[in-house]
Amino acid sequence: MKLKVNEIFKSIQGESTYAGLPCSFIRLTGCNLRCSYCDTVYAFEKGIDMSFDEILSDMELLGCNLIEITGGEPLHQEGTSEVVKELLGQGYKVLVETNGTLNIDVLPEGTVRIVDIKCPGSGMAERMDWKNMERLWKTDEVKFVLSSREDYEWSKVIIDKYVLTEKSKVLMSVAFGRLEPRPLAHWILQDGLEVRLQLQLHRYIWPPGAQEGTLLRSTCRHEKGVGSSTS
Ligand code: SF4
Repeated sequence: MKLKVNEIFKSIQGESTYAGLPCSFIRLTGCNLRCSYCDTVYAFEKGIDMSFDEILSDMELLGCNLIEITGGEPLHQEGTSEVVKELLGQGYKVLVETNGTLNIDVLPEGTVRIVDIKCPGSGMAERMDWKNMERLWKTDEVKFVLSSREDYEWSKVIIDKYVLTEKSKVLMSVAFGRLEPRPLAHWILQDGLEVRLQLQLHRYIWPPGAQEGTLLRSTCRHEKGVGSSTS
């Protein structure tokens, strides 16, 4: 079993309820979407094939118990769930950040699934697999990345429609450079929403385009753009 890997690095987890913890990141190559604010276009094609043993060896070298598999879109590659299963078997805590358009149930029990819900501002809202809302576990997290007030109002409708706050943790964050956190904080407080306002912590530590933490492998880091980092 091999996965096409764009980069492997250690950094501070920045976009979930695990934010602030040291974390090893495996960024997989390829994505089925093209979000308007994507800052990981460099991961769309380039990567190297790695076996599970090679990936495990890198994880041991980086030395974090927490691992996040991101992309690109991790579920775009067939071998992802098998690798997650093996990593769980080794005792790691594994987060998988996925864009919400592919079936999350392919991931094994024990995975923490961080599911993006693509808002209209991303240009990809019509690509969502809404059946995923029925597949959520309590340990999962759903995340809205907002570009505008319109995205916020749309998100409230989706939260109500799928009763999301009862099914999993719900996060709202801002698309970097499009919406400031302060108005979002006001809206959440005014509406009494039971959601977690989540800042992209790594954005406040490292400026856009800068190397985050320790880079172990990279196939095309120099092509990195700027914007909001999502899955
Ligand atoms: S933001 Fe995530 S889901 Fe959207 S195009 Fe970029 S990698 Fe794919």
